[in-house]
Amino acid sequence: MQNTSTYTVDPARLEGVVGTPLFVAVAAEAAARNIAAFAIGGFVRDLLIGRPCKDIDFVVEGDGIAFAESVAKRLSAGHVHVFKNFGTAMFMFGEDQVEFVGARKESYSRDSRKPAVEPGTIKDDQERRDFTINTLAISLNAGSLGALVDAFGGILDLDRGLIRTPLDPDITFSDDPLRMMRAIRFATQLGFVIDPPTFDAIKRNAARLDIISAERIHTELNKIIATRKPSIGFNLLMEGDLLPRFFPEFVELQGAEEKHGIGHKDNFHHTLQVLDNVCEKSDDLWLRWGAILHDIAKPRTKRFEEGHGWTFHGHEDKGARMVPAIFRRLKLPQDDQMRFVKKLVALHLRPIALTKVEVTDSAVRRLLFDAGDDIDALMILCRADITSKNERKKDRYLRNYDLVIRKLKEVEEKDRVRNFQPPITGQDIMLAFGIEPCKLIGDIKAVIKEAIIEGEINNDREQAWKLMLKTGKELGSIPLKGMETPVPVISTETEELPE
Ligand code: ATP
Repeated sequence: MQNTSTYTVDPARLEGVVGTPLFVAVAAEAAARNIAAFAIGGFVRDLLIGRPCKDIDFVVEGDGIAFAESVAKRLSAGHVHVFKNFGTAMFMFGEDQVEFVGARKESYSRDSRKPAVEPGTIKDDQERRDFTINTLAISLNAGSLGALVDAFGGILDLDRGLIRTPLDPDITFSDDPLRMMRAIRFATQLGFVIDPPTFDAIKRNAARLDIISAERIHTELNKIIATRKPSIGFNLLMEGDLLPRFFPEFVELQGAEEKHGIGHKDNFHHTLQVLDNVCEKSDDLWLRWGAILHDIAKPRTKRFEEGHGWTFHGHEDKGARMVPAIFRRLKLPQDDQMRFVKKLVALHLRPIALTKVEVTDSAVRRLLFDAGDDIDALMILCRADITSKNERKKDRYLRNYDLVIRKLKEVEEKDRVRNFQPPITGQDIMLAFGIEPCKLIGDIKAVIKEAIIEGEINNDREQAWKLMLKTGKELGSIPLKGMETPVPVISTETEELPE
């Protein structure tokens, strides 16, 4: 494995930090109480490699909560949030979130994630941390003010770009199996390599991930997905045997079957390529999830058809139907974000279809109707979905998409259908025919929608009203007297289109 990190450790970055108001206050409080205090963890790591960090953790050899309250007073900081169960206290200082905890020693039992905790020294506290690069501490104590406390070779690992546990990795991972996900998350975020003995321990302990809650797992997974190149993390999750523990559907994408000399692409690698491509264009986590799930039903819809080769008919619909269950299991949101991902999966072939035939206005309008404001996200996904190695083919497909995008723009400017609001409401229909809510209303609205999509009438009230009267009559309803022309708009509420 190659270290792709662009960071270099620079101890000079530590200089000056102890002179800032926050660190001066912590050092003064440590001196006043005559107890040792340190800045520790992610803040120190990120400071050394010049990566921004807004969370600053302090550990004190004593009561962290009382210490935090005194420091907050010295700084006239805002409210101190106390988490008694965890023995931590937190307050905001400017833009920084500052947290204090008493140094502790932890011991775990085999069947629980909850360790037995007792007060400890800075060394005990460093030892219970996940990786050597996260054990680094800065002393805020007289005599060693500003000195780096590096008990486990963290600075060397930071320099080499290495993720390594401070203790025997089997113990570190068995104590808290989430650390296996964190190892891969840090490797992906920082471009670091996981030390081979540490990685071997991940494989050995992978099944222990089952005791970790879906929320904690998805938090780490989302941090991997939020990186510049999430494929690195997914490949490591696969190699480390973690992915099957919480995302078996993704694992199923693996493999390229061959029959009568005809193969199909490996959808695991294809999907990761699409995901990386999307990441170059958008930071939107849920669009990235759309990429992850766009072909998720391919293994379940795969057929070999004589004379045709491999087909995956209906994988977009089946895939969309799989989204809620996957989101539910991973405890991801069930509301708008999930519906957005589902929509992307359901629609991801539609723009491709538009490039294959002579593009008609009605086909474009239909896509705009269905995608609404998510059309731009959908087009990013579709462009990212072109992973052909044949550059000429790729260029041709991309040019086709440029055409589709131009066409989408033209039709939208002309017809304003992107956020379609029916020109005739259910209220109008009830009024025109003197009827109560019933099926007829949905039927008439569907006819109007189709006529607008097909370009048979314009998206306006006058023409839609005429069509409403005609359709109602055909379906056996007589309009009331005086209803030959549109009444003034009686409701501005947005109505859902019938499915
Ligand atoms: P990020 O802020 O990007 O999540 P971080 O390293 O700051 O990264 P936090 O989750 O904020 O991570 O944790 C802060 C510190 O607490 C870490 O640097 C590490 O020393 C320690 N830590 C956090 N989670 C664990 C864990 N599961 N096991 C051991 N140590 C941990």
